[in-house]
Amino acid sequence: MLDLRFDNRFRRELPGDPSSENRPRQVPAAAWSPVLPTPVAAPRLIAHSREMAEALGLEAQAVSTPEFAAVFAGNALLPGMQPYAANYGGHQFGVWAGQLGDGRAITLGEALDAEGRHWELQLKGAGPTPYSRHADGRAVLRSSVREFLCSEAMHHLGIPTTRALSLVATGESVVRDMFYDGRPAPEPGAIVCRVAPSFLRLGSYQLPAARGEHALLGKLIDFTLEHLFPEIDGDAATRRADWFAEVCRRTARLMADWMRVGFVHGVMNTDNLSVLGLTLDYGPYGFLDDFDPDFTPNTTDAEGRRYRFAHQPGIAYWNLQQFAAALAGAIDGEALQRGLDRYVQTFSEAQRVSSAAKLGLPDFGDSDETLLREFYRLLFAAEMDFTLGFRALAEVDPACPDGAVFAEAFYHPGKQAGQASALADWLGRYAARVRASGIDPASRRALMDRANPRFILRNWLAQQAIERAQRGDEAMIHQLLEAARHPFEDHPAHAGFRGRRPEWARNRPGCSMLSCSS
Ligand code: AMP
Ligand code: MG
Repeated sequence: MLDLRFDNRFRRELPGDPSSENRPRQVPAAAWSPVLPTPVAAPRLIAHSREMAEALGLEAQAVSTPEFAAVFAGNALLPGMQPYAANYGGHQFGVWAGQLGDGRAITLGEALDAEGRHWELQLKGAGPTPYSRHADGRAVLRSSVREFLCSEAMHHLGIPTTRALSLVATGESVVRDMFYDGRPAPEPGAIVCRVAPSFLRLGSYQLPAARGEHALLGKLIDFTLEHLFPEIDGDAATRRADWFAEVCRRTARLMADWMRVGFVHGVMNTDNLSVLGLTLDYGPYGFLDDFDPDFTPNTTDAEGRRYRFAHQPGIAYWNLQQFAAALAGAIDGEALQRGLDRYVQTFSEAQRVSSAAKLGLPDFGDSDETLLREFYRLLFAAEMDFTLGFRALAEVDPACPDGAVFAEAFYHPGKQAGQASALADWLGRYAARVRASGIDPASRRALMDRANPRFILRNWLAQQAIERAQRGDEAMIHQLLEAARHPFEDHPAHAGFRGRRPEWARNRPGCSMLSCSS
């Protein structure tokens, strides 16, 4: 028996669309539209997150019932569920795109956990909504596997993220032009149930602001303050100002986290930035393999590289500026500027802390900045793996530094040889700095091993799991989920998954580059 209680405050308290007509249209002055998931042919549970199920108070045996697969495919509703699609807009690739909305996401309801916390349960790929525009509202297995696995992988890395409860095969195919080359082909479909306290994003506030819907914007802000930021108190103006600064602070911390583990989101449009500071919308994302500050996994962005790795903190700031502009009628201009300044301060402080930890230093001075920059230059010039390179750094004995620790990290023997003496020089300086810091070996090791993951969900791994699943073998999805549960320790579940990207994956679609077609 699927025992979940619902308290649907978003639908109850915010203005909704009076029409329930499910065809693409503009929806003015409403935060949501009522819409039911479109049933699928043959729901079958592929995988679930036991941690998320536990958090929701779901028992293990309930998850394996046909009812669970039916509900989380959109074929059945539980008592208390009131499905809707949310309305929002956004800047896409720097350009205001107007109304976007949940084109293929449908929230089933807000489930209550044992502590009374609200968790929005949202199906991604559950069929068309008024926001689907020209598209079908569905999702393919490939993109659903990627969202399911990475949501949980980020959670285990300790990085704020929306979660994933389940991955359900639909038994239907979905037609996609994966390479945008005019050759659409059917692919298996799947639906992820994602979970978060709220899926509100910067674009949720931008849309009513752009349309001059001040009453709706005000209600949305009040709702956000009351339910999602209850810890912020003071008079009305102070609360709004502090809220904006808090969104900036959380976003800054998120960017520092992404940069620490080498995560590239791929589509940092303002509709994909959570107001809660969560990683949101896993599309053509990727973790760095070889260190390249210009890396983007998104083929749609390959030209301008707007969302490349090194650009992410600056883009988040730009997005927050657009958010500030949307809030200009509701929050005083000086307060908005203070919030943006908070972003800059928080990011640089968080970056210092994470840089010190990555290098295993107790503090981080100006000369360490140079030391780190030189290491990045070496990682790039020698074509070294970002994750393996930092993990190997923890193996360096400061009394007797030896470049042999990096053996596993190189992608290119010629570049490795070319940088060997520069790397040896750098190691000498690094070892001297570690010795001078006086940090004891156990503390250094603990600091580094918590900052530098051992396992990351590399695209070539996810891609292999997907290709096997498409052939009927889903084991690797479960294996990667298990590996992702232990990102920082050396763990048997990593066997076969901890190495650098193999050469065959260098230019292979799904491994190094991904399209937005999902
Ligand atoms: P994304 O790039 O995934 O953040 O999506 C941008 C917008 O396109 C959002 O409003 C999505 O809901 C919508 N969208 C993406 N894929 C689909 C689809 N297959 N069907 C309907 N809407 C979609
Ligand atoms: Mg999106």
